[in-house]
Amino acid sequence: TTTTTTTLITGGNKGLGFETARRLVEAGHNVWVGSRDAERGRLAAERLGARWVRLDVTDDGSVEAAAKTIEADGGLDVLINNAGIESRGADNGIVGAAEVTAEHMRQVFETNVFGVVRVTHAFLPLLRRSPAPVIVNVSSGLASLSGVTDASTPAYGYPGVSYPASKTAVNMITVQYAKAFPAMRINAVEPGFTRTDLNGNTGVQSVEKGAEIIVRMAQVGPDGPTGGYLDAAGTLPW
Ligand code: NDP
Repeated sequence: TTTTTTTLITGGNKGLGFETARRLVEAGHNVWVGSRDAERGRLAAERLGARWVRLDVTDDGSVEAAAKTIEADGGLDVLINNAGIESRGADNGIVGAAEVTAEHMRQVFETNVFGVVRVTHAFLPLLRRSPAPVIVNVSSGLASLSGVTDASTPAYGYPGVSYPASKTAVNMITVQYAKAFPAMRINAVEPGFTRTDLNGNTGVQSVEKGAEIIVRMAQVGPDGPTGGYLDAAGTLPW
């Protein structure tokens, strides 16, 4: 007998999250699109043949309500922590070392870091009841120390402070959860510099390309890697 895999994607209403949802619907998953906005969420789910659940990763009440809804509907097998912000300044400018404030960093961490923990914590009881639980945390190439300090890599020139630090934290959170829950496959992924609203569509690759590693790690088997940090070509140093 085959059972349907149920998958939740936070920030699934556009960008990499939407493309990931599209591919997993195609692969036969029962997909929940998490969106903080009702209109955007409903529209996306309608286009995808998926379901929508209100989910603002910065809001405890919203996350707990989403977990209740999905639990009542039968539970969850795959959680994709995709929602993220870079929080650019005026004219789409990256907030660099001279401008960054504690408040800017707090805002970025609230979504990219505390959001991941908030959502994971709320959905852990559901995932632990799944026969094959999976978590994918969408990180970034900018999480990598070797990436941002090696002058030969494209990430070297990136001047921002809050966003790379938030994604390095995501990698560490991933490792610690993976050690704690050896029955789950829990990995961090780097999609690559992708044309989405996050970067004012300045990315160099399509969402189809970017979603590749997210989709692959969402479908990882029980013998696949856990606690890893990977891009489409394999394991990355960080
Ligand atoms: P987009 O801006 O296109 O999409 C981001 C998604 O996150 C949107 O659905 C947005 O919802 C949602 N979101 C933001 N804040 C919240 C919140 N508080 N609660 C719920 N949802 C929220 O960006 P991408 O698709 O590019 O980004 C997806 C992930 O990929 C992020 O984690 C990003 O850091 C990561 N990434 C992106 C790269 C790139 O080059 N694009 C490279 C490496 C990593 P709304 O529509 O309501 O704003």
